[in-house]
Amino acid sequence: MTANAGAADLLDTCAEALAAAESLLDRARANVSALVTRSGRIDPALLDREQFAVHGFAWMATYVEALRQMRGWAERGRAAGSFGELESLILQAAYGEYCAQLAGGIALSQGEVARPGDMGVPDAAVESFRRATAAIVAAGSTAAVRQRIAQLIADGRFGETALGDETLEMVRDQFRRFAEEQVAPHCHAWHKADALIPIDIIEQLADLGVFGLTVPEGYGGLGMGKAAMCVVTEELARGYIGVGSLGTRSEIAAELIRLGGTEAQKEQWLSKIASGELLPTAVFTEPGTGSDLGALKTRAVRDGDVYRITGNKTWITHAARSDIMTLLARTDPDSKDHRGLSMFIAEKPRGTDADPFPAPGMTGTEIRVLGYRGMKEYEIGFDDFAVAAENLLGGEEGHGFRQLMATFESARVQTAARAVGVAQNAMELGLSYAKDRIQFGRPIAEFPRVAGKLAWMAVETMIARQLTYSRRARRIPTGAATSRPAWPSCWPPGSPGPTPTTRCRSTAATATPRSTRSRGCCATRASSTSSRAPPRSRRTSLRAACLAGATEIPLCCHKILKLFEPLTPYPVAQTGPP
Ligand SMILES: Cc1cc2nc3c(=O)[nH]c(=O)nc-3n(C[C@H](O)[C@H](O)[C@H](O)COP(=O)(O)OP(=O)(O)OC[C@H]3O[C@@H](n4cnc5c(N)ncnc54)[C@H](O)[C@@H]3O)c2cc1C
Repeated sequence: MTANAGAADLLDTCAEALAAAESLLDRARANVSALVTRSGRIDPALLDREQFAVHGFAWMATYVEALRQMRGWAERGRAAGSFGELESLILQAAYGEYCAQLAGGIALSQGEVARPGDMGVPDAAVESFRRATAAIVAAGSTAAVRQRIAQLIADGRFGETALGDETLEMVRDQFRRFAEEQVAPHCHAWHKADALIPIDIIEQLADLGVFGLTVPEGYGGLGMGKAAMCVVTEELARGYIGVGSLGTRSEIAAELIRLGGTEAQKEQWLSKIASGELLPTAVFTEPGTGSDLGALKTRAVRDGDVYRITGNKTWITHAARSDIMTLLARTDPDSKDHRGLSMFIAEKPRGTDADPFPAPGMTGTEIRVLGYRGMKEYEIGFDDFAVAAENLLGGEEGHGFRQLMATFESARVQTAARAVGVAQNAMELGLSYAKDRIQFGRPIAEFPRVAGKLAWMAVETMIARQLTYSRRARRIPTGAATSRPAWPSCWPPGSPGPTPTTRCRSTAATATPRSTRSRGCCATRASSTSSRAPPRSRRTSLRAACLAGATEIPLCCHKILKLFEPLTPYPVAQTGPP
């Protein structure tokens, strides 16, 4: 194999390496599965005992999925005529490095390396994998390849994304322009001032449809898929992490209601969330309860027409400037685990700087943070805080944890997209600095180790992007039923233009006051039943619970889901900041 093998040869070589990696993974799956199951079911105690093997397997599965997605990316690029030298080098570097690590060990953290033997893979199987991938490992990610990648990215082109979807590329362009014009020039000042993202930006995002991207059209959203959510999130996060994260709370709230709410709750809340009229906040974590969310202590006690909430929550993002809380609390005082929890859609008045929590029974103090600014973090106390009983999600107690786990499946994909946007921005800033910074009479970007690091950033950012946009992520049901997504404005010249729904929304957006906009639009579609959310499938909730259980597993670890899908979920909770 040469430094830049012909595209067809390279794709063949990658196909062989992928097949070998899949068979290595099969060996690991069989062994790990045997380690953690009893009578065909996952045993939580065994899962804890064998955590290193399970998490190692998850990482391995993620690497194999990454290889699969990168090959799909290359094929799409080749078909579209956009698979040039840079893309080819990115592909071979990805395969070279990941195959080497699959055989030699994957660093789960700086101090933990999971080797095939840790997953019970015998030496002979590892040797066979090494032989099958020897060519791509030898030539794939060499210093020369990285050097050439560094030269090719020097002009700020980091490889075609090749999503294979024109609409998504248009969406990307539109949000990239928005972030570059409205966010990037100002966000450092927001960060230094530790200020909330200006409300004007939030209103513009609302007008662009960001808060209702995946909400079905019948409930006032745009009914787009998760891939669109990823594109939008990536581009906004590339501008500023806080702006990329604004939509997460709306996504969580809308998904909770769409998947777990009664019809009346969907009618009441979804269009207002989608339009940005209501800003939600996610209220789950407690001072003593983070990952083990099922153990939370905040109580909700029925008192006539209301539930009275008492307890403490912490790390609540955007808590002051929000209008509704998706609030997880214990309704069964005798329970000790996730089964006694219920989810509420709790209304609160929007706070101000002078009075951040103007609600009876609710107090809050800010937690100052070094980064992830723009929405602010809070510790919150509830003391007999009243929530209308009709706002119990789904109308039945005891389903809160499962409702949340189903929701996290898409919130996690969005979190991955945020990470891709931040990585892209970090890479661009790093490259710019390395080109400008002169040492020993040359830009430091010319020194091989600096160039090599920049090149690998380009490779791994592309890997993370393709994993995030993978078909699996696209398959998460949104309840959308449009053949073509409705997009509010700014179709590029020459594009086919907006659908009737788009026109409706665009016209409404220019002609009516904000508070009535989406409602007007929604009302015209309210009778449509075709876009109602499909019933939540058991498989979805199992996958979500398993994803949640893998506390250190990278977000897009799809293969572990295959292992666990037919088995009982292991009820553990969230892993990262919403
Ligand atoms: C900036 C920020 C914003 C946030 N925003 C919100 C929000 O809006 N709403 C909200 O409800 N929460 C929010 N959170 C809270 C977040 O969800 C929690 O931090 C997260 O769930 C982890 O909980 P913890 O911090 O208590 O860590 P812990 O659960 O105490 O974990 C500590 C460490 O132990 C590891 N660990 C824990 N259990 C296991 C296990 N079984 N096996 C192996 N390792 C384990 C963890 O991976 C971690 O490294 C936010 C947090 C941050 C930092």
